[in-house]
Amino acid sequence: MTTLPGLYIHIPFCVKKCAYCGFYSITDLTLIPDFLAALRREMSLNKDFNRDFDTVYIGGGTPSVLAAADLERLIGDIRTAFAITQNAEITFEANPGDITAGLLAALRSTGVNRLNIGCQSFDDDTLAFLGRRHQARQAVEAIHMSRDAGFNHLGIDLIYGLPNLHENAFANWLATLQTTLSFHPEHLSCYQLTVETDTPLADLLRKREISLPDLDLQARYFFRTSETLEEAGYQHYEVSNFALGNRFHSLHNSKYWNHTSYLGLGPAAHSFRGRQRSWNHWSVSAYLKDLAAGKLPVADSEFLSDEQLRLEALFLGLRTRRGIHLADFKRRYGQDLLEEKREILRKLMEDNLVEVRDGFLIPTRAGLAVADSLALI
Ligand code: SF4
Repeated sequence: MTTLPGLYIHIPFCVKKCAYCGFYSITDLTLIPDFLAALRREMSLNKDFNRDFDTVYIGGGTPSVLAAADLERLIGDIRTAFAITQNAEITFEANPGDITAGLLAALRSTGVNRLNIGCQSFDDDTLAFLGRRHQARQAVEAIHMSRDAGFNHLGIDLIYGLPNLHENAFANWLATLQTTLSFHPEHLSCYQLTVETDTPLADLLRKREISLPDLDLQARYFFRTSETLEEAGYQHYEVSNFALGNRFHSLHNSKYWNHTSYLGLGPAAHSFRGRQRSWNHWSVSAYLKDLAAGKLPVADSEFLSDEQLRLEALFLGLRTRRGIHLADFKRRYGQDLLEEKREILRKLMEDNLVEVRDGFLIPTRAGLAVADSLALI
């Protein structure tokens, strides 16, 4: 596993906000030119973070709101400011409605080799409920166009566990999964819908106009999704992530789960180095203001104590099917889990939530379903 850092770029613009979204983005697209100029300044102020990066992830927000020419310039700026290794994984997130031949050509020519399309569902009623601005037909077209353009590492994002819009919400989800499988994406992220504060979805819930699936139904969604995708040949390698084999795991996201360093640029982006975590202003205007004054747009930072690092490593490791390498964990965080947590691990093994294999502590599928509580051991 590589230990070079990853580079994350947050494009904080969306044409409209989706009903469930808790990510930072604004809908005033007139600020894009100022933002891109400020981003260039932020890159130059961060040149000492590290020279080499082997993953780049352009996310948001909606990176695909950028014009092809802006995108080409952005990736050129990244390559000028940093040394991106030759075989680096370079991911770009796109909204299906934005995918055009011109955008795809720009992505290919700049070396983007992983395209992540936010399909969310292939059911138009579900898409309308989520407040997405595309329809299922556009997502299908976007996938075909991306394949035709030569993208052979395609990721599709989906959301499940929606309020019961119709009696057959569960069947609708299974149909979305089957449609997705027909495209053979190399990577799939299936996120359970969560209710973020201050969103239209949270409002509906507060007014009791909708209700979310109960715990039993949520578990049914989780297990059925995992079983269906594993039967189709996917590895369920992290709570929400599936890949057609090791080589299609997201290298960039794996850095977040392994405590590898990363540099995040753009409003609301987080960075992590050694034991320091910092995060940028959650505001485009504050971000622009700091950079205009020649300052890094950092809102705050924290130093993680040994104990915080250990707990995070446990929490993050037990969300992955790789699990925790017990000897590495002892070396890095000073705890012999098998020795010090013997009783609780014995109980978790009896309940078929974890197993110990080849020197790793590994959550089972049932363990992944309750991964956050596993970390409380
Ligand atoms: S497109 Fe993505 S980032 Fe933008 S509002 Fe929708 S979910 Fe949020």
